[in-house]
Amino acid sequence: MSIISKTSAGTSSSSSVVIEPSELVLVTGANGFIAQHCIALLLKRGYRVVGTARTADKAKLVEQTHHHHPCLSVVVVADITSRESYLSVIRDSEPVAVVHMASPFSYDVKPSDFEATVMKPAVDGTLALLGAAAKSGASCVRRVVLTSSLACVLDPALGRGAGKTYTAEDWSPLTYEDGVVAADAPSAYRASKTTAERAAWDFVAREKPAFDLVSLCPGMVFGPWLEGAGPRTLEEVNTSNRIVWDVLSAGGDARVPATRAPVWVDVRDAAAAHVGALSGAEVGGKRYVVVSGVYCNQEIADLCRGDHAAGTEKSSCRGGISMTDEERRRVPVGQPGKREAHLHFAVDDGSRAEMELGIGGWRGLGECLEDLVPQLLAVERGLRDS
Ligand code: NDP
Repeated sequence: MSIISKTSAGTSSSSSVVIEPSELVLVTGANGFIAQHCIALLLKRGYRVVGTARTADKAKLVEQTHHHHPCLSVVVVADITSRESYLSVIRDSEPVAVVHMASPFSYDVKPSDFEATVMKPAVDGTLALLGAAAKSGASCVRRVVLTSSLACVLDPALGRGAGKTYTAEDWSPLTYEDGVVAADAPSAYRASKTTAERAAWDFVAREKPAFDLVSLCPGMVFGPWLEGAGPRTLEEVNTSNRIVWDVLSAGGDARVPATRAPVWVDVRDAAAAHVGALSGAEVGGKRYVVVSGVYCNQEIADLCRGDHAAGTEKSSCRGGISMTDEERRRVPVGQPGKREAHLHFAVDDGSRAEMELGIGGWRGLGECLEDLVPQLLAVERGLRDS
């Protein structure tokens, strides 16, 4: 697939709010995969951070992950949809900005649970957070960065949509009701993210709060975990990295699993985009597609099997992916070098996000897999954080 650059307008007029290092940022879902990298980068850049997690154990783990950094505290918000809980956190800590990442991202959900466990936490959680940030007396908040998704940009009715190039101006048509009655969990997830992001922009337009909104729409996020913050079991591997595991473990003679979400970004670049959304000038009121490029599962398989010739310069590995011969043989062969980009839609090439959010270049798939795959294999061997 060709990736075509297009500039897209913000959803509301941009503002020049800039959140400076040393100021305090609230990060919801602080124990999550992307959040751990985002918090690490915020701390590295000199921000102070207050995170939220659902339980005291998870809060403690976040503090451990970041080595009890003096500029980090983590509080428990058990119910993501409780405006009062967020209000109390905001009143107590007075953050100047919020990064709202907490939202369900699991494909392991029964249809009967879609509304209660996918739609409501995503949508009501976003509105609870925004309502708390906007409530009079809590007007310290100047910016909210919403972790949205490329799922909110794509139109599922177009299917693979070859010939279509999506930009940040595109919107998924999925509704709340579509999520409740969705045929499968990925569809419910896509509806939950779309409805939550729409609700956020509608809230800002209607309530005109003291803060502005930036929404980020990452493609599928792959990459390593911070030391001590990875999964203990394969069941705990987060939904996006599971795609890589499913290729790695399919079996040498098996078919390469079908590629379902062909656009990706490295988790460290996704984190950098969030920090850039706080510190970038003129980004307020805008929506960004956050993608490194396209991929397919055959490319993951080729890179893992060491078939470097099949990769592009950008996707190739630095030194090769560390795997035993036996582990390498378990990766399906498929049709080495076969790529699917021409068969499906294209996406904004990420250059606008790269420039305006200050990303110093997107990592390639090879580099990402070099760091992720050994961690996945270590989890399989029961060796957390090798
Ligand atoms: P994780 O599952 O690792 O993190 C999700 C976070 O949200 C966790 O802190 C989780 O808490 C919290 N959460 C989930 N459901 C609930 C709930 N019902 N109530 C309270 N908290 C909840 O996912 P990611 O880091 O991958 O995702 C973070 C954000 O990025 C999400 O908004 C996701 O939609 C978005 N995103 C992710 C992409 C990806 O490929 N990973 C791509 C595009 C967007 P707990 O651990 O307690 O469940």
